[in-house]
Amino acid sequence: MAGITWFRRNLRITDNAAFQLRFTMAGVFFFDQQWTGDWLGIARCGEHRRNFLQKSLHDLEENLRALDVPFHSITAEPEVELPRLCRQLNVDEVHTQALPAYAERQQATRVRQALMAIGVRLIEHDDYTLFPTTLVAEAHPTSFTSFSKFRKKLTPYLDQIIVAENSPSLHLQSLTNQQAAVINEYQDITPPDPRAVMNFIGGETFAQQHLVQYCESALFHYKETRNELIGQDYSSKLSPWLNLGCISPRQVLAAVKQAERIGGANASTEWLIVELMWRDFFQFCALERGHELFGGSANRLVEPNSSLSLEKDKDFTRWQHGATGHPFLDANMRELAATGFMSNRGRQNVASALIHDLGCDWRLGAVWFEQQLIDYDPASNYGNWQYIAGIHANSRGGSWFNLDKQAALYDSEQQYQALWLTKS
Ligand SMILES: Cc1cc2nc3c(=O)[nH]c(=O)nc-3n(C[C@H](O)[C@H](O)[C@H](O)COP(=O)(O)OP(=O)(O)OC[C@H]3O[C@@H](n4cnc5c(N)ncnc54)[C@H](O)[C@@H]3O)c2cc1C
Repeated sequence: MAGITWFRRNLRITDNAAFQLRFTMAGVFFFDQQWTGDWLGIARCGEHRRNFLQKSLHDLEENLRALDVPFHSITAEPEVELPRLCRQLNVDEVHTQALPAYAERQQATRVRQALMAIGVRLIEHDDYTLFPTTLVAEAHPTSFTSFSKFRKKLTPYLDQIIVAENSPSLHLQSLTNQQAAVINEYQDITPPDPRAVMNFIGGETFAQQHLVQYCESALFHYKETRNELIGQDYSSKLSPWLNLGCISPRQVLAAVKQAERIGGANASTEWLIVELMWRDFFQFCALERGHELFGGSANRLVEPNSSLSLEKDKDFTRWQHGATGHPFLDANMRELAATGFMSNRGRQNVASALIHDLGCDWRLGAVWFEQQLIDYDPASNYGNWQYIAGIHANSRGGSWFNLDKQAALYDSEQQYQALWLTKS
């Protein structure tokens, strides 16, 4: 049967169940509401993520062109434009990726109905997470309330995760000629700020290059460095590529396993896999909780699901712009604004400060992160914010960090604060 691949958070041609040469006649991506809309008066997608997305789409288009598959990027809602494209190309099927978050599932339902009306089938493939949904439903049939329980139940299944057959395995080897040519083409691109942790360039080609490079060395000290704040190697920096699907979590797992076979497993290689499981945990929480992912409040003054007003929150504005007067907090917020990235340590601290010190509603912070983060993902972002606010999955009822102590512990020489509080 002839079909279209509707690319969502799977912007790659390898290990992608929704893209198969035997059925894909054309590929399409939609700049829909999640890219063009706003929420609480804040545009949902900022400059850094938009640039990263555009590079990712360009790379995908080039890779598809090499396979003679035409690709369209369309600014519209898919339920409006996909039926028209299907008629134009005379196809019977649309293949896409199943996504766990509420708005994305609602969107798939609308698309399914619009396609059904013209006799076209929507087929969703389940590969955004490491563990397939059916496996998780079997291994963990109860509610997702604790990460440690999730980890315990799913760890025995890690050995069953294999990269799809259509995927070239990720050998830790030098680049192919095609990859090297693409990387050359982009080598003059500089990061948005010279202080950025690294130059994030969107696309499958760069994702694979970065994964290979990371697994060759820095992976082996991940557990010791993961709470650091400066530089490329303290953590994997894979999140932007993972969340647009330039690389799949299964490909990351396969590369880590391969690195373990070559260099030996250690606490760091094992911990990176635990972090991939955190990612899955938040995805399955989102799948289970639907619109509750955006509700609730840790702040007693704000009723759950109340409509929020930005004007009331002067503290929020100062927080947003890194102008609270607390150097550790401000440094992190300025890094985010300048580069679209912030370390996990930084994210935990600035989220805790907004909720528990400044008393603002967590959703304001989460929406700001949605706009700013180059690696924004609905389940990971809103799930982590809810975790810190104590709304879901946090047995301590929330996470509060003492900013002064955290700064003394993780930035004892104030190098990080100096880096971001001094004008570049
Ligand atoms: C308030 C807040 C908001 C966040 N928003 C996002 C978001 O929108 N998108 C996002 O990918 N992560 C988010 N995180 C989680 C985490 O901060 C980032 O995944 C991590 O900093 C990305 O850097 P890395 O790739 O170097 O991670 P590494 O430390 O190298 O971890 C490897 C991978 O594991 C996954 N991972 C690690 N920690 C987490 C976590 N706590 N939750 C979910 N996945 C995790 C990521 O996919 C990451 O790429 C958020 C955390 C907080 C506290």
